[in-house]
Amino acid sequence: METAQGKDFNTSGSFDHICKALFASAAEGLIIAGSDGKIVMMNQRAEDMFGYEASELVGARISQLVPGPLREQHEHNTLRYMAKPSRRTMGNGLDLIALRKDGTTFPVEISLNHLTLDGEGYAMALISDITLRKSAEMELANLNEDLERRVQERTRELRDSQQLYTVIARNFPNGTINVFDRDFNYVFADGRELFRLGITSEELIGTNYLTRLVPAAREAMAEKLKAVFGGQNASFDIEVESKHFEIHAVPLRDSVGEITRILVVETNITQQKRAATDILKALEKERQLNELKSRFVSMASHEFRTPLSTILTSLSLITKYTNPEQEEMRQKHYNRIRTSIHHLTSILNDFLSLDKLETGLLACNPESLDLRAMLEEHIDEMQSMCKPGQGIELVYEGEVEAHLDRNMFRNIMLNLISNAIKYSPDNGAVEIKAVVLEGKVRIDVRDHGIGIPEADRQHIFERFFRANNATNIQGTGLGLNIVKKYLDLMNGDIWFESEPGKGTVFSIVLPQKLAL
Ligand code: ADP
Repeated sequence: METAQGKDFNTSGSFDHICKALFASAAEGLIIAGSDGKIVMMNQRAEDMFGYEASELVGARISQLVPGPLREQHEHNTLRYMAKPSRRTMGNGLDLIALRKDGTTFPVEISLNHLTLDGEGYAMALISDITLRKSAEMELANLNEDLERRVQERTRELRDSQQLYTVIARNFPNGTINVFDRDFNYVFADGRELFRLGITSEELIGTNYLTRLVPAAREAMAEKLKAVFGGQNASFDIEVESKHFEIHAVPLRDSVGEITRILVVETNITQQKRAATDILKALEKERQLNELKSRFVSMASHEFRTPLSTILTSLSLITKYTNPEQEEMRQKHYNRIRTSIHHLTSILNDFLSLDKLETGLLACNPESLDLRAMLEEHIDEMQSMCKPGQGIELVYEGEVEAHLDRNMFRNIMLNLISNAIKYSPDNGAVEIKAVVLEGKVRIDVRDHGIGIPEADRQHIFERFFRANNATNIQGTGLGLNIVKKYLDLMNGDIWFESEPGKGTVFSIVLPQKLAL
């Protein structure tokens, strides 16, 4: 088969005919130019592309189809090509622009070929209008750019929200925010409680939550959290190693609505619990104190009556004993008045001590003192209370100096001595033995009185308790309770031995030198 090369363009013949038909109907524009760069012929498609009739362009320079600024370079390129023609694409990857008759431009792709006819060289350009392809490419590039921008935006938003969640979780006070998978493994954990425990969230992620709990709490917790995987919310309190936690758990659903994780918010409420318990305790104490005070007031008003009426009677009798020989009778009533006033004072002292002890206002203030002199002073003070024939004896052994709270010690001794006097008959001696040895003070107060019945002994230090055999003797049942509390404050102890009808010995022991 012959090629078109080497033939006259106007020769007839079937091959020639086919070539012409192909040339005319080709879907791409075809332009043939001579070696001088002038257009020799062009097909219909090229006419349509450039908006010229072929007759307008035949003989014109091919560079007429190139926009002005590029024309000179194109002329130069054309001549170079003609000097050394080859079959290749034009522009080598550059975007080529063509110029229409109406001055508008459009993008093209051009393949160059060359042929020789009757010794004359020609260049043939196959021109494709790539406007559609370019705009599609442009659109695609825009779409890609848009997509890229959106991906970046979403990534940033995600990062921002993750940062936000982390900041919120990390600053969650007194607790932790956790996410667990179905096996109760940590997927997320943060909160100030972790920081306090010195654990990082990274250490926890992937580890099992339940195994971190003490075995006693594990089962109950697993059961409650399983219900959350079943779709229920859960709120409950739990105590772990004397710490209290409030737990709120909710299911987390994935994109298809399945519960694959749960959110568990743990708040350490130990302090609140403690505060609530303290408040309850304080309230209870306050209630007890009020009850105690009202009980004391009703008891004291009853107890006050007898000494007051004794004082009144003795006073009216004293005014009647005017004769000098009635001095003995007067003395008897002075003593009664003195004892009654003493009794009233001791009730009031007990009340004040009790109030101070109960409100915790009493502090121990030890000071150096001569114990022997103090005891003698107290005994002297109590002599006036003695019944006829009663006497108080002191036996003292050991060191005299001690370091104790003066008021507390006085209160203890006056209580014990007044009981010994009170619960003994006339002529019943009271014996006090003090031994200060090896850093300890021991004092025994012995009487020969009514004694304490066996059944009442265990309650003797309880507040308001009075033994069965003491009901006819004045008293409040507070003294020994107060003595015991003072001894507690001074690191001391008290006990007694008693035989009903024969007598009682109350013994106390306390450190000789109390540190502050
Ligand atoms: P009060 O003497 O005002 O009743 P206390 O608290 O001092 O209160 O004593 C409680 C109770 O212990 C007395 O009511 C009494 O029954 C009994 N008691 C205390 N000391 C003696 C004692 N020396 N001999 C017999 N009973 C005593």
